[in-house]
Amino acid sequence: MTKADMMKAIRDEALVLKESPLYKYRMSKGYLPVIGEGSHDAVIMFVGEAPGQNEAKTGRPFCGAAGKVLDQLLEHVDIPRDSVYITNIVKDRPPENRDPAPQEIEVYGPFLDRQIDIIKPRVIVALGRYAMGYIMKKFDLDLQLEPIGKAHGKAYPAKASYGDIDIVALYHPCVAVYNPNNLPNLKKDMEILKKYEK
Ligand code: URA
Repeated sequence: MTKADMMKAIRDEALVLKESPLYKYRMSKGYLPVIGEGSHDAVIMFVGEAPGQNEAKTGRPFCGAAGKVLDQLLEHVDIPRDSVYITNIVKDRPPENRDPAPQEIEVYGPFLDRQIDIIKPRVIVALGRYAMGYIMKKFDLDLQLEPIGKAHGKAYPAKASYGDIDIVALYHPCVAVYNPNNLPNLKKDMEILKKYEK
């Protein structure tokens, strides 16, 4: 199976995931699951929280207001968007943009785990506290887990099944949607990614 085939299998399964607490809501709205996009050979993988309305309508991650911020951050460090892989923990939109529920993270987490194993990134960038919590626990870094206010801009070395990786914690791009004064700080944190470029 190619990487593209394995990704497609994830998409096909997510489409009919009736056991998800978000399945009925997605169907009632005519939304799409948002699996992820970008290079299947990416060195850098970004993990957000859950799709918003624009994302659920188009099936593309980070294509709304938070996506514009992410695009600015990538541009700031000269990393082309199509060279990285961008996804979320939760693949369906929670109603009214509420935070993802623990049960939703439990249902969708295994899909993210499979995506990590397919792409084998050298660095996983956790966008915001939910992604950070999930990724740090997955790689047995529970003891190093700190509030995002402390963790942002730091790299945590970890062991993946396929080799050494770094987990980088960043504030979620939406903090600059709510308050554009946060953008310079996000850009500064983003500079940590320069050292991982191919
Ligand atoms: N926020 C996220 O966490 N993910 C998206 O795809 C869009 C907004």
